Amino acid sequence: MYSEPLLEVKQLKKYYTIDQGWFKPRKVVKAVDDVSFTVYKGETFALVGESGCGKSTTGRTILRLHDPTSGQIVFAGREISGLSYSEMRRLRRKMQMVFQDPYASLNPKKTIRQILTEPLRVHGVASPTERVKQAVRILEIVGLSEYHLDRYPHEFSGGQRQRIGIAKAVILHPELIVADEPVSALDVSIQSQVINLLLKLQREFSLTYVFISHDLGVVRHISDRVAVMYLGKVVEVAATEEIFASPKHPYTKALLSAVPAAHPDEKRERILLTGDVPSPVNPPPGCAFHPRCPSCMEICRTAAPPMVNAGEHHVVACHLYN
Ligand code: SF4
Repeated sequence: MYSEPLLEVKQLKKYYTIDQGWFKPRKVVKAVDDVSFTVYKGETFALVGESGCGKSTTGRTILRLHDPTSGQIVFAGREISGLSYSEMRRLRRKMQMVFQDPYASLNPKKTIRQILTEPLRVHGVASPTERVKQAVRILEIVGLSEYHLDRYPHEFSGGQRQRIGIAKAVILHPELIVADEPVSALDVSIQSQVINLLLKLQREFSLTYVFISHDLGVVRHISDRVAVMYLGKVVEVAATEEIFASPKHPYTKALLSAVPAAHPDEKRERILLTGDVPSPVNPPPGCAFHPRCPSCMEICRTAAPPMVNAGEHHVVACHLYN
């Protein structure tokens, strides 16, 4: 089922320190805490979880927009976590990002012509005429046209701006795209158009996606596999169909119980979690989910659960399966 790995994330950590002023100890925020997973060529691998679970920080750290605190990021067989800025800049051609807010990621002072030809120029691709030709081609692929070349980002709707953001990410023919909540700022009617565009581009350019989202309905539609994150850690990974049909981790079960059923005869009982997500500055001992877990046992309060097999290509970090 799975092709060769394109991205391997091994024991990745991203900690931030917060200065509290004179004579007070610094606090450490464990935004990403010992995260490991593999993304295979051509698949869409979703990272899901509540806001603040570390999924966006994981995505940005993979692309080295943030430097990792420790751990390994292996892209196309090459360990990249220690590469210099200039080495990373060369590699970025193969690893691109689509942001949640396309307006923030597009320079408002530049025309679409400048926005799309700039990456080609930086990476030494093609002559000026060829760069414009490629910009027009990619605009047409994402559903816009040459007519839009000399307009500014503010002259477009949110959906059109996200198409331009996607065009900017794809124009260098990357292998990996990290898409961070790419449709959550868009109207529901536009969301499916942008999702379908991402799927079309994936087929056309043989792209691999890391798709970050809190919207499990969208994730079910687009992804091949899903990793569920809670408080900086991955707690479950499985194929999309498997995880929706048979979630194992109590947190995954609660998340999925809120998603409308895909079939009328699919019955699901809503599980309401009590309490807020604990602070990553001071995570609970043992299993970080234990204060909210309806199945909490004594061991959960003191021992962190290891990741164990829970089926074919299905792993879970929970003492219920240990
Ligand atoms: Fe719940 Fe314990 Fe499993 Fe954590 S390890 S999810 S507290 S049962």
